Amino acid sequence: MIIIPKSSVYEEVLKDNMMDSTFSYRVIDLYGRKIILTEGQSPSSLPIDSETALLVNANLYSKDFKQDKTTVQVGDVSIGEKKLVVAAGPCAVESESQLLETAEAVKALGADMLRGGAFKPRTSPYSFQGLGQKGIQLLMKAREETGLPVVTELLDISDYAAFQNNVDMIQVGARNAQNFTLLRFLGTLKTPILLKNGLATTVNEWLGSSEYILSGGNENVVMCYRGNRSFENYTRFNMDIGSIASLRNLTHLPVCADPSHPAGRRELVESLALGAVASGADMLEIEVHRDPDNALSDSSQQLTLEMFGRLMKNVRKIEEIVRG
Ligand code: PEP
Ligand code: MN
Repeated sequence: MIIIPKSSVYEEVLKDNMMDSTFSYRVIDLYGRKIILTEGQSPSSLPIDSETALLVNANLYSKDFKQDKTTVQVGDVSIGEKKLVVAAGPCAVESESQLLETAEAVKALGADMLRGGAFKPRTSPYSFQGLGQKGIQLLMKAREETGLPVVTELLDISDYAAFQNNVDMIQVGARNAQNFTLLRFLGTLKTPILLKNGLATTVNEWLGSSEYILSGGNENVVMCYRGNRSFENYTRFNMDIGSIASLRNLTHLPVCADPSHPAGRRELVESLALGAVASGADMLEIEVHRDPDNALSDSSQQLTLEMFGRLMKNVRKIEEIVRG
């Protein structure tokens, strides 16, 4: 339950009324407001009246809780404002020259952020698993050379030491979208989080995942739609534009779209990107590789630099219509 205290003494009132030994509460600061969160309490058991506090019957992600759109700041980049934000880069960091060349090129073509996986969630344990810590070091080098803030996936809490004070935005991948232990951990940080939906999560389940991060006190969450599993297999996943529109209705959090993973084929990525921006996405995350045919992961969906350049030109036209 979410309680917004009306006076600074409310916490004392709450303590004095702690009859039940199972009662637990936490105090967080979110969007400039002090909030008390309780677990497992019925509203009638709480010392709430119109003088002392407000009981909010809504989730922290919802527009009932916060009406104005949230902006998430990643370095100099603001996600959720008028300008569309584009993060681009390889699926996986493979080598220094691969990353630096791609980073310089996507920057020149208008990307605002650099993506690249160092810890990769692969279907087979015999596939390339990413460069790990070394990959994070290369991302830091690319940031230094290009000035682009970096977003990269944290697969497991045990890898966090490499991310701390380094990575600008932490990606939660589809396979971890409901890893509540990881989500709770990310809630204890202030680092911006790019939260993907799960392979088969509903919009509400996915928003529930964002609530785990927000309720820990980390207000910097961007929702990233990456498609759902469906019966269709010409595309890799089903990119449901309705999910992006639904988020616009249901949450104040910024919305990102990843057209690369649902497309699964590079020739389809631009169309999905245009649809996502037209539907209200604030950000795009796109896989780009200097030599996609020889990429060590997601080879068929990564764009060539030339294709990325074309996509950016056309995306700007849609941006002008829907956000101009
Ligand atoms: C990725 O961004 O490379 C990735 C693995 O994404 P997802 O978790 O959405 O599959
Ligand atoms: Mn990928």
